[in-house]
Amino acid sequence: MKLYNTLTKKVETFTPNEEGIVRMYTCGPTVYNYAHIGNLRTYIFEDVLEKGLEYLGYDVIRVMNITDVGHMTSDGDTGEDKMEKGALREGKTVYELADFYTNAFFVDTEKLNIRKPSIIEKASDHVDKYIEMIQKMLDEGYAYISNGNVYFDITKAKDYYELSGKNAEDLKVGVRDTVEEDKAKRNPGDFGLWFTVSKFANQDMKWDSPWGIGYPGWHIECSGISAQYLGEYLDIHCGGIDNIFPHHTNEIAQSEAYFGHKWCNYWVHGEHLNDKSGKMSKSNGEFLTISLLEEKGFSPLSYRFFCLNSHYRNQLTFSWEALKGAESAYQKLKNKIKSLDKTPDLHEEKIDYYQSLFKEAIANDLNTSSMLTVLYDVLKDEQLSDFTKLYLIDDFDKVLSLNLIEEEKEISDDLEEMVLKKIEERNEAKKNKEFEKADKIRDELFNKGIKLIDSREGTTYEII
Ligand code: AMP
Ligand code: ZN
Repeated sequence: MKLYNTLTKKVETFTPNEEGIVRMYTCGPTVYNYAHIGNLRTYIFEDVLEKGLEYLGYDVIRVMNITDVGHMTSDGDTGEDKMEKGALREGKTVYELADFYTNAFFVDTEKLNIRKPSIIEKASDHVDKYIEMIQKMLDEGYAYISNGNVYFDITKAKDYYELSGKNAEDLKVGVRDTVEEDKAKRNPGDFGLWFTVSKFANQDMKWDSPWGIGYPGWHIECSGISAQYLGEYLDIHCGGIDNIFPHHTNEIAQSEAYFGHKWCNYWVHGEHLNDKSGKMSKSNGEFLTISLLEEKGFSPLSYRFFCLNSHYRNQLTFSWEALKGAESAYQKLKNKIKSLDKTPDLHEEKIDYYQSLFKEAIANDLNTSSMLTVLYDVLKDEQLSDFTKLYLIDDFDKVLSLNLIEEEKEISDDLEEMVLKKIEERNEAKKNKEFEKADKIRDELFNKGIKLIDSREGTTYEII
């Protein structure tokens, strides 16, 4: 397996610490709002990476956190607390907000066939671990207490700028808007490990600590959860490119200070999904979610297909036209597969050949578009029996997860009766020019997996 390593800025051969086993950590969502489809692009890439490694024969132990405390709007120490701000916006407690958006996150990821990592842990459940780590960093001189908070002294890190390629100049006050004059810090780039209530007196989530009642910084959460479940040597750490600095940079500083040696060998980052106005964000432009895509009649898996067509290290620009193109290519592909003859007739001799091409595409820095090319080549190969094609497609779909081969779905009498009744209701609404109501009925059915097809002869339906 070859992977681009942000740490060395090179494509490198991947070798895990323990033969055959990959310890992988992926930063999870901050649950203050729905995930937008940009966030979900990163989770799709990580899912394909995990399944690709498995296809190559590795056992993957993957851990993901749920950030429910400590994440500031700046990603550094300044700005507002994202969770507090979200709770205020929605009139919920921080705990209710976290529960609500954690569930919403898993509904979305399931629709995209993103498998749940083996271990998923809430940041707020591991405060004892952070306290233990921070205490060790204080004892060993990596951290200091100032103005009631505990900070990490970045001059004590071995090579603080290695991952990001930045320098001390970049961290000067005024150069980055997230760096503010904070007299409590020894160096402007130092970051908070533990904040006492002096920062936000009304903080909902707070715990007792040797340094006063307070809460952990965002970065220590990932170092802590990774240490707890994956031990002191990590093979792969992933995230979107915006995580490189300061989040991952600070994770390295803390974890290596705590363990006293190099911690993670491979840092793999996914490029962003942009919209026409630039980087997609939750506060900028149209807030694109999976539910919005569905409301507009797209299937979530056509978005997965859209993402897989480009390499994770390339920026991808979203537009409705581009998604329409992906949806139509995806449906065409599925229809082609549906038309294959299922009569058993396996051509074993070519299976190895295509599987090794598919493995090469995975091993080539997770080249998802090449994986799809191998799939199309299988479909085009006139010497392969349909049955062999189906066998291979099913096999590749373990990584692609596009539901390429679907069981024939049968509609029960009850369901049919309900759908026909809804079609009638919708016709009635249309007749009365209640178009919003008519669209709502169509969308509700779509969300139940039933797509209405309007034609001059009337409305029919199909199960999707
Ligand atoms: P957050 O919930 O803000 O902590 O972000 C969750 C994940 O989404 C992180 O790994 C980010 O790096 C990633 N991310 C944020 N914005 C984008 C984007 N526009 N495209 C792709 N990934 C993103
Ligand atoms: Zn993280």
